[in-house]
This record gives sequence, structure tokens and C-alpha cells, in this order.
Amino acid sequence: MARILHRSIGQTLPHAASAQGVYITDTQGRRYLDGSGGAAVTSVGHGHPEVLAAMRAQIDNLCYAHTGFFTTDVAEELAEKLVNLAPDGLDYVYLVSGGSEAVEAALKMARQYFVETGRPERRHIIARRQSYHGNTLGALATGGNAMRRAQFQPLLPQTHHVSPCYAYRDKGNDESFEAYAARLADELEAKILELGPESVMAFVAEPVVGATLGAVAAEADYFKRVRNICDQYGVLLILDEVMCGMGRTGTLFACEQEGITPDILTIAKGLGGGYQPIGAVLLSSAIHESFASGSGLFQHGHTYLGHPVAAAAANKVVEIIARPETLANVNAMGERLQRGLEAALVASPHVGDIRGRGLFRGIELVADREQKTPFDPARKLHARIKRQAMARGLISYPMGGTIDGVHGDHVLLAPPYTIQADEIDLIIERITQAIDAALAE
Ligand code: PLP
Repeated sequence: MARILHRSIGQTLPHAASAQGVYITDTQGRRYLDGSGGAAVTSVGHGHPEVLAAMRAQIDNLCYAHTGFFTTDVAEELAEKLVNLAPDGLDYVYLVSGGSEAVEAALKMARQYFVETGRPERRHIIARRQSYHGNTLGALATGGNAMRRAQFQPLLPQTHHVSPCYAYRDKGNDESFEAYAARLADELEAKILELGPESVMAFVAEPVVGATLGAVAAEADYFKRVRNICDQYGVLLILDEVMCGMGRTGTLFACEQEGITPDILTIAKGLGGGYQPIGAVLLSSAIHESFASGSGLFQHGHTYLGHPVAAAAANKVVEIIARPETLANVNAMGERLQRGLEAALVASPHVGDIRGRGLFRGIELVADREQKTPFDPARKLHARIKRQAMARGLISYPMGGTIDGVHGDHVLLAPPYTIQADEIDLIIERITQAIDAALAE
């Protein structure tokens, strides 16, 4: 009898046995093309010899030393590397074990910054509806994913939400993209004014919305306007790149394409590439200085932060991602995926939008293309697509169906950055068949 509390109880899952490149093989010998990197985790492919060698070397020397007593060369190297590669203005790194931990730490950093600088009244978090920032209580409260929040609502600290930048559904037909971005920025400003600017701590957003909407990037200028408003009212800007960062969208950091730098930035998933659980928070000198010249302590911590084996894996993963040929492949294969999906799905009356950046692509499904009507959530179309894709040897990441009643089902595709053209074509073929079969059920 299975003794693991699985996420979906009663579902029979194949047992993964091994993985190489863009394929995972189960104990029955079936091969699955990893079209979504799990949940956009696998960045440099499975079984990468350089990452394995880096981990082995670290394991032979040191597996663990508590960060209350020691630092390690490997963690210091990783931090140095991330700061050197990050946009100017992100100067320090805090290492954690995953995405939710990174978001929790980011929120606490923002709060402590205002306490240390004599502004303890700054406490409000503003984020966006239809976002996801993790499953721990602070991160869940920050996220605007109604479905994931619903039953835990009474436990969640108060947060405030404004509209996401989601032109496919929210931009008016006669509205220009510029006017749309300006309208959303005005909404943020109005929320700050409503709460009282002196009481607002941070605005949190994913540069490209992942799990909740399916690879929705903001329109040009949106984030520049957001940055300006945050500056105007002294609100910290936290960008959550847990899913869209680390090369996923074609640049190492997704915010590079927005031309702005946040005060705090979170990364995870692609950073460890699935080799080790690791996340990181990058922060500005001003925030670091407030701690250094104030209490001298960041009042937060987890047992495994800065884990040496995780740092060794991430060090090598980041080195591989930062190679020009890796990001060139993300962009070339991302384009091929987008064009191929458009060609294959153009005739489907149930494909509303195909979007994304780099190897981070989303397909939104609609009951009616003209009206953009979502499918009835009870149909669980996303779950059917996932099952049909698995049956065809494709791992994809379909989600949705119950978000605020405005957004329907989508499929997220996020293959490893090492993927080749024939494998991209196979993803397109299999996901098209899986969508058709799920719709026909
Ligand atoms: N933030 C974003 C944008 C995410 O997409 C996720 C996970 O999907 C998280 C945070 C939480 O990360 P984790 O699942 O590693 O805790």
C-alpha cells in the first residue's frame, strides 16, 4: 500500500526511474518527453554531466555546515556569480531552499527594512490577482490565485490585490497597449493612495505570470510605470522570478526585458534545475545597509539555507545557463515552439491565445474563441489534457478552470534549455493531439 500522501489521492502515478537530457523514463520503460521541465524546473536538462560532477566533488568534501557557524566557498561563489550577472542594483544574495521560502524571506526583508529605517507603519503588501507566489501562508496570502487560497483564507495575513497585466482578456478593444499599461499603473497608484502611501510596504509581481495564467508577459511600459510609482511613494518593488527567471524567458533575468531593476528579486526552480532544492533572494545595497547599520541581523532563517551541495549544483547550473549558446538556444527553440503551436492550433476554435517568451509558452483554451468564454470548470479540461499528454509520452503543465471566474484552462510548456528542433516538433505534435483528444472526451 502506498504510504505517501500524494497531492492527488487515488491517482495512479508512474514511478520515475531515470532521466537523461529532455526525457524521463519510468520503471515500465516508458519514455516521457519533458515538455514542461516538471513545473518549469528542469533548466539545463536531466543528467547533465557537469552538474553531476560539481555535486559529486562537493559531496566528497562537505555536505552540510550550519550557516550560523560557517560560510562556504561554494555559497560565496554562487552569490558572487548571481550578483555579477544580475541587473545593476541587486548587490546581495540570500540563499534558501525553494520558491516559497524565497518569497517569505523577501516579504520579511521588506518589512525589516522599514522597521530598521524607522518606518514601522509600512506594512501593507499589494500584489496582483491571478498570480502565484508560493504555498506557505505569507506567500499564499500574497498570491492572488483564488483557487489555491480559498480554504486557507482565514489563516492568511491581509494583502491587497490589483489587476494583472493580461491584455488578452482585460485590454479594451479600442484601447491601445500604452493606454492599457497606463490604466493598470493608475490602478496601482490608486490602491497605494487608498491605503495611505506611508503604510504601504511592497508591490509584488511576476514579470511573466506562470502557474496561474500560463506565460502571460506584461505589455511594454507596464513595469517601467510600476517602477516609477513605487519610487514615487517609497514602496519596495519585489519581482518574483521563481518560475520565469534563470533564462526561462530568453534572458537570465526576466526583468532585463522590462528595463527595470526591482529592490528585491526572488529566483528558484531553474536555479537548481531540479538537481537540488534551492532558491535565492537578491536585494539592493540599501536594504542590506539598513540591516548592517541597524540591528546587524536579518531576523529570519531556515536550517538548510546556503546548503553546500545545493549551492554547488546551482553554481554549475548558472554557469551553463549564462553561456551564450544556452540562451541563444532558448530564444531559437522558443520561437520555433511559438510558431509551430500557432500553425498546428490555428484551426482549433478552442484555442484562444498562444503566448510567452523564450521557452516559457502558454496556450489558453476557450469554449468560444470570439467571446473568449472559459470552459465550465467542472469539465476539468486541464486535467484531461495532462492525462492525454502523459498517455502520449509528453509531460506538460496544464492548469486552471476556476480562477476568479474570468480565466479558463491553459497549458504551460517549459522544456529544458538544451532541447533540439526535432524534440520541439514532437512537443507540438503531442500537445496538439492531447488537446484534441481531451476536447473530444
Ligand atoms: N513563485 C512563483 C512565481 C512560482 O511559480 C512558484 C511555484 O510555482 C513559487 C513562487 C513557489 O515555489 P516553490 O514551489 O518552490 O515553493
